[in-house]
Amino acid sequence: MPRIILFCVALAFLLCNCGQYSGVAEAKAKTDTAKHALGEPSFRAFLDRLWPVARARGVTRETFLVAMSNVTPDQDVVDLTKKQSEFVKPIWEYLASATSSNRLERGSKMAGVNQSTLDAIEQRYGVERSVILGVWGMETNFGGYTGGKDILRSLATLASVGYRGTYFRDELIGALLILQQRHVARADFKGSWAGAMGQTQFMPSSFQRFAVDFDGDGKKDIWTNVPDALASTANYLKQNGWQAGLPWGFEVTIPHGFDYRLRRLAFGEWASQGVRRADGQGMLGSGEASLFFPAGADGPAFLVTSNFDVIKRYNNSDAYALGVAMLGDRIYGAGPVRASWPVNDPILGLQQRVELQESLTRLGYDVGEANGRIGSLTRAAIRDFQEKRGLRPDGYAGRRVLEALRVR
Ligand code: CA
Repeated sequence: MPRIILFCVALAFLLCNCGQYSGVAEAKAKTDTAKHALGEPSFRAFLDRLWPVARARGVTRETFLVAMSNVTPDQDVVDLTKKQSEFVKPIWEYLASATSSNRLERGSKMAGVNQSTLDAIEQRYGVERSVILGVWGMETNFGGYTGGKDILRSLATLASVGYRGTYFRDELIGALLILQQRHVARADFKGSWAGAMGQTQFMPSSFQRFAVDFDGDGKKDIWTNVPDALASTANYLKQNGWQAGLPWGFEVTIPHGFDYRLRRLAFGEWASQGVRRADGQGMLGSGEASLFFPAGADGPAFLVTSNFDVIKRYNNSDAYALGVAMLGDRIYGAGPVRASWPVNDPILGLQQRVELQESLTRLGYDVGEANGRIGSLTRAAIRDFQEKRGLRPDGYAGRRVLEALRVR
């Protein structure tokens, strides 16, 4: 598995409404099938094979027995791996629910309740509170739902059927070590069906690398201790390259006669091209940003910085990153998106997106596997194709580009 999927490996599935915008799938789809049948005897055989590997990585026999002795395979978990959504929510609907009035209200309340913790975290890690709140809100509605599945049972089930090779086996061993280190009690070791845990949904491997004990009680408790969970999130973002003081980006307006081939420029150069912040504030004095049209050039435009890419290290989806960014900004008083979304322009369904990717592949572009999930490879191919065909190169997988591909 590539490093980009360290965290919410399952979110591409759980948040199937962001599938269209997810690049995760392009990298992993080939191994997305269960290799073995699920059953009690094969599950026991799997545990027998697991033990020597776990032992070699430091798991004690006692931990292994306490953790696994009453665990049975979970058919629901296997079924969930097969769920694929045909329907994709348009990004404007996804963002509307990401920043719903209920969520904003809860977010503001949580920002207030945890103000001194957020002060201390910001001070220590140099990660702005808005993005921490954004991640917390998007992952679990600020701790409102952290997942009730037994982590060890879910991971063992996924590993025993060979889902995604050895990825879940390694996560399972990581989870056994977390239990052994006594960060969480066996009975409280819960999370999503795909192994994401706690307030901000860390996978065990991410826990091992990034979780911190912020309140100093000796436990990294990302399940019930908000300071630990939020500081762990800040640490994750910092270690993945978050730059303090740099905004993730902002909405912009594009002038008439704009050269849509421009991709990434310094803020000052964007200003010379006539690009302006939609909120009327001045462009940043230094740094660079990329132009991004989440729903094509007929919809809102954004300049996004390297911090936007850092958010995508949490979940490699543009829709998700915009959701995190906007939720955080709006909790701290920013307004909604100003430009209109192209709500009357129907988005492509799964089959049409696959057709689009297959057409691009036939033209020699590398879009990864044609699975209907539009990630950065597909968008780059679309832009190139649009440029060659004299279309506005906005990289948007919409009806216009599909029609142009059909008539070639
Ligand atoms: Ca702690």
